[in-house]
Amino acid sequence: MTDINQVKEWRRTFHRYPEVSYKEFETTKRIRHILEDNDIKIVDYPLQTGLVAEVGQGDTIVALRTDIDALPITEQTHLDIQSTTEGVMHACGHDIHMATILAATMKLKAQEATLPGRVRILFQAAEEVGSGAQQMVEAGVLEDVKVVTGFHNDPTLKIGEFAIKPGAMTSAVDRFAIRIQGKGGHAAKPEESNDPMIILGQLMTSIQSIVSRNISAFDSAVVTIGEVSAGNTWNVIPDQAYIQGTVRTFNAETREKTEKRMQDICDGLASAFNAEIELEYIHLPNAVINDEVLTQKAIEAAKDTGFNVEHLKEPKTIGEDFSAMSDTVPGVFAFIGSESEYDLHHPKYNPDERILEKAPDYLVGLIQKLF
Ligand SMILES: [Zn+2]
Ligand SMILES: [Zn+2]
Repeated sequence: MTDINQVKEWRRTFHRYPEVSYKEFETTKRIRHILEDNDIKIVDYPLQTGLVAEVGQGDTIVALRTDIDALPITEQTHLDIQSTTEGVMHACGHDIHMATILAATMKLKAQEATLPGRVRILFQAAEEVGSGAQQMVEAGVLEDVKVVTGFHNDPTLKIGEFAIKPGAMTSAVDRFAIRIQGKGGHAAKPEESNDPMIILGQLMTSIQSIVSRNISAFDSAVVTIGEVSAGNTWNVIPDQAYIQGTVRTFNAETREKTEKRMQDICDGLASAFNAEIELEYIHLPNAVINDEVLTQKAIEAAKDTGFNVEHLKEPKTIGEDFSAMSDTVPGVFAFIGSESEYDLHHPKYNPDERILEKAPDYLVGLIQKLF
């Protein structure tokens, strides 16, 4: 059986040697060695980075997922386990996830003979760029899988706290960029130009009407403009204007409607002002939707493990690409407290390692309920 010091050691090693999305070659090797050393079966899938293992036997398969990538951030914790790679840091706690899932794997291995089916363990690359989970699904890792589960560490929760809700747990994340092509000229002769500034002003207020006028009071969405640029001096009308931002929604219908309204507004203003307006709308991860029955099982497993369970009232507005998996088979995803003064993606993010004590037992308990 794996002791807690071993689990912490795994986490610290992952932390010292972080790798960004799709570059997790050494991390993959490290996981492979740990699995091989512990006699865990590795299953081949066409993946450049990340890997898949299995414990148990039988036809019923339950999948357990961890992400493995780090972020392009320079660590500022000044701890002894600080990243040895300048500009790369496990600032989202995926090192914690890997160590937890490895510990759970070892516990499942120890009871392999009595497992009623197989547990397929997914070490997933490239969560931070939002496409790693989808890539794994396309590689076929969820074929014949009954349900999938995973978790994210949450620094806003204390050690021993656990948060979940049925339905939407995170938001769908989209990015938009709008380019307005007008006609530049002398600031003193606007009648000879087609001023993109005026169109930009209209556009900014018009897209804010999507949330206030097109979305029900009982639903919600976020439309945020994060960047605006146009012109560079006082006496010239520029040729172009540009804005970009993000949309966060919690169901497919609202997501589609928001995108369609944004396109309609761009087309309408283009026609009204006789300009070209080009909208680029990029879908990043869908919202993670928790299955209702599975959520109940997760709550039971968390209570059995001794967690204090918080029933979330609202989803979080962060994105999580686990949704590509839980869109394919029923899934359940939880937040487990990692108690840090600094938030996820912060260069001083420092999760409390005591999360490693209970989180593996929760996963093992949950998996037994999922067969
Ligand atoms: Zn992250
Ligand atoms: Zn993360």
